[in-house]
Amino acid sequence: MNNASALSNLPVRILMGPGPSNVHPRVLKAMATPVIGHLDPEFLRLMDEVRERLRLLFRTRNRFTIAVSGTGSAGMETALVNLLEPGDRILVGVAGVFGERMCDVASRCGAEVVRAEAPWGEIVDPGQIESALKKGEFKAVAIVHAETSTGAHQPIKEIADIAHKSGALVIADTVTSLAGCEVSVDEWEIDVCYSGTQKCLSCPPGLAPITFNDRAMEVVRSRKTKVQSWYLDMSMVERYWGEERFYHHTAPISMIYALAESLSIIFEEGLEKRWERHARLGGALHAGLEAMGLPLLAKKGYRLPMLTSVGIPDGVDDLSIRRRLLAEHNLEIGGGLGAFKGKAWRIGLMGESCSQANLLLVLSALEKLLLAHGVNVHLGSGTTAGLATLEYV
Ligand SMILES: *Cc1c(COP(=O)(O)O)cnc(C)c1O
Repeated sequence: MNNASALSNLPVRILMGPGPSNVHPRVLKAMATPVIGHLDPEFLRLMDEVRERLRLLFRTRNRFTIAVSGTGSAGMETALVNLLEPGDRILVGVAGVFGERMCDVASRCGAEVVRAEAPWGEIVDPGQIESALKKGEFKAVAIVHAETSTGAHQPIKEIADIAHKSGALVIADTVTSLAGCEVSVDEWEIDVCYSGTQKCLSCPPGLAPITFNDRAMEVVRSRKTKVQSWYLDMSMVERYWGEERFYHHTAPISMIYALAESLSIIFEEGLEKRWERHARLGGALHAGLEAMGLPLLAKKGYRLPMLTSVGIPDGVDDLSIRRRLLAEHNLEIGGGLGAFKGKAWRIGLMGESCSQANLLLVLSALEKLLLAHGVNVHLGSGTTAGLATLEYV
């Protein structure tokens, strides 16, 4: 029997899919920091520092800002299970997989779910939200800011204003957008906003930053029924992350180290500079793919910089290209989900993965492989167009 674990044979990849993104070596090193007790005074100081920096990242003064122990989906579940009680009504914007997932989670809370739908690649129109809200009383409106299944960039502020006029709370999913483009929780008046560490924060998957404003926490505290999830009940987690330090569960200590280091890296770069880097390289990727004759599937004017959905040319097999990217270029991109399965690739430029070197690699590798698979692509067309936007922007 071979005693070596499969772990020893894992390759180092270039991660340009929909997440996880590449993790900075400093973050990996931080994770090797010796584990100390989760109630050690030094660890409590670190938790406080992480909370303070998460507030800066979300651009909020919300007292209740923490990192949920779990991935982005745990953030989604936390937002919904805490706000919703059986019989409550919620309006969910659905234009892809993650809006769909919110509907699923909300229905498991016993809520009545009403959908405001848009075709894949498009955004939910604020007018649609407005007319849906006229049809009854809603406790919350939930919307995905960066729909990772399509690459569409959903504006939030106008929808939040409409929701608040009707008295509903606003929940926003910023798993893919946070740290990659503007997310301004206070200015946009988002009541509950969650994210994940594995996309533009360039941390491994495992924590879900989340923030609740006072109004949302008041709703949690005045529930008639208990939150159905013991683990994600924020009225208890609040006492653990707060001054009381009341034991609830053991924080995943090494992940908190990772998040602390990744937040340092983000603020060393500067948040706005980081958004600008994503915008610039994302724009170059869009130009490069279009110059190769490939269609971008998110609506023009509403395209995310950090996640691009691109149509696969007719007759080209999705998996054989992705297998060759991995085997020949050590490069991972994502396949399509749901309606886009087999029809689209999803290319991520998130956090550490968002570099000019990676941009040129993915464009040149696709030029070469598409040509090899019989597509009429000119070598150099994508890279040249991509570089040209970088030159002159
Ligand atoms: C990735 C993602 C999630 C889920 O995050 P996991 O870390 O996979 O649990 C939720 N919402 C959006 C928009 C995402 O992109």
